[in-house]
Amino acid sequence: MTTATLPKHYTDLCALMRTKGTLGSVAALVGWDQETYMPAGGAQARGEQSALLARLVHQHATDQKVGELIVKCEVDSELNNPESEHGANIREMRRDYDKATKLPSDLVANLAQAQSEAQDVWKSARANNDFESFVPALTKVMDLTKEKASCLKTDEHEELYDALLGEYEPGAKATEIAAVFEPLRDRLSAFIAELRDNGTAPRVDFLSREIPVEKQHAFGQEVTAAFGFDYSKGRLDTTTHPFCSGFGPGDTRMTTRYSLTNFPDAIGSTMHECGHGLYEQGIPKDGPFWGTPMTDSISLGIHESQSRMWENMVGRSKAFWTWALPLANKHFDGAFDDIDVETFTKAMNTATPSFIRVESDESTYNLHVMLRFELERAMLRNELAIKDLPEAWNAKFKDFLGLDVPNDATGCLQDVHWSFGLVGYFPTYSLGNLNAAQMWETINEQIPELNDQIARGEFGALLNWTREHIHQHGRRYTASEVIERATGKPLESDPLMRHLESRVRPAYGL
Ligand code: ZN
Repeated sequence: MTTATLPKHYTDLCALMRTKGTLGSVAALVGWDQETYMPAGGAQARGEQSALLARLVHQHATDQKVGELIVKCEVDSELNNPESEHGANIREMRRDYDKATKLPSDLVANLAQAQSEAQDVWKSARANNDFESFVPALTKVMDLTKEKASCLKTDEHEELYDALLGEYEPGAKATEIAAVFEPLRDRLSAFIAELRDNGTAPRVDFLSREIPVEKQHAFGQEVTAAFGFDYSKGRLDTTTHPFCSGFGPGDTRMTTRYSLTNFPDAIGSTMHECGHGLYEQGIPKDGPFWGTPMTDSISLGIHESQSRMWENMVGRSKAFWTWALPLANKHFDGAFDDIDVETFTKAMNTATPSFIRVESDESTYNLHVMLRFELERAMLRNELAIKDLPEAWNAKFKDFLGLDVPNDATGCLQDVHWSFGLVGYFPTYSLGNLNAAQMWETINEQIPELNDQIARGEFGALLNWTREHIHQHGRRYTASEVIERATGKPLESDPLMRHLESRVRPAYGL
């Protein structure tokens, strides 16, 4: 079926999706501006602009006309073939529409109110290390979040957690995630303990050498351009909390942050956001279907797999630094001239338990995520009372990472997520690592010369693989289907463990 012969109920539906998508891209643009260039004085007006746009997007997403057209498309058997791209598009439009229309407006308003209150309380609770003061606000948000999960449930036997998870990782199940996480958790904990007891930590002192910010920026741009990021269709700007926004056809914005004495953090976050950016640029957004699910990313876990692959699998490898270290020295006036590639790569692969998730390394990061996954699932199942959260947090922290948490501010109060009612979000970070590691093994089997290519600064074959197996499909397949189609097997924890051991063991002389 060519576009010209598509039935009117489908092309009308796609036109409505285009309007919604375009409004969403305007909302993303003002959001990007707020985080990059907006003067502080614009905050209040920007709040009004963003709220208006969010209301308009919601109106379009829940428009009755959309619901009627979806029904017409669903009963059109010639169009609605589940094997076809259009069939998948209709299936996903139905999913979005049901999700947007399922929540009673009272609940949405109450949750928004409770979230905004809880965030304020959380800020002062964290500053004063006072968990008790946060208990009533968090309890309210969690109760409303459970109510939301009950509304979103697709069948009565579904675990509440899955209904929330589905917002970020459609089709994923908590039981399946636990089955991958649990063996990984135990092996990672043992691995970290082994490094601590028997390994010799690599030298890292040179990583904090002072590098002027504008030189770091120029280096980051050259690296990401070599990765394949198209700067005629995107930008790299500076912000406090780096993110990437794929506004729409031909416009993808990456952001990063710089510190004078922490160059690895900056280049790591630039490569990370570039992975997100390459995914956004690889989704076919041009043409009549912009705004429909076929021009959107699959899930957070798949999006994160793209960022983690470029940041970690590529960006911490010896092959990469064989090419990038001389380039860095060129940009940085020889700042690392006295450091060889071997020593530099080892420093990029440390694994040291620490208290704060966002500051943790590639290996220990997953333990921070698994701890949160287990605790939030227990809270949702009423197996853990909010007031007992600190005790449960600290016990798991000791168990997983071997450290005694000194206070709640560096413990269970460190993340903003739960005050937002963001439950089911954390696991997508580790799913990203797991997906990336499994893809990485397959890619290396299918492109045996990949290491040599990377050492020469050639990334085209790698990018093409991700374009072919991940990016081009939009939301045609679920995340687990994509992984299985791309790698020939369902998601496993072994590839991530093999990847970490192959990088970190040599760094610790094991
Ligand atoms: Zn990310």
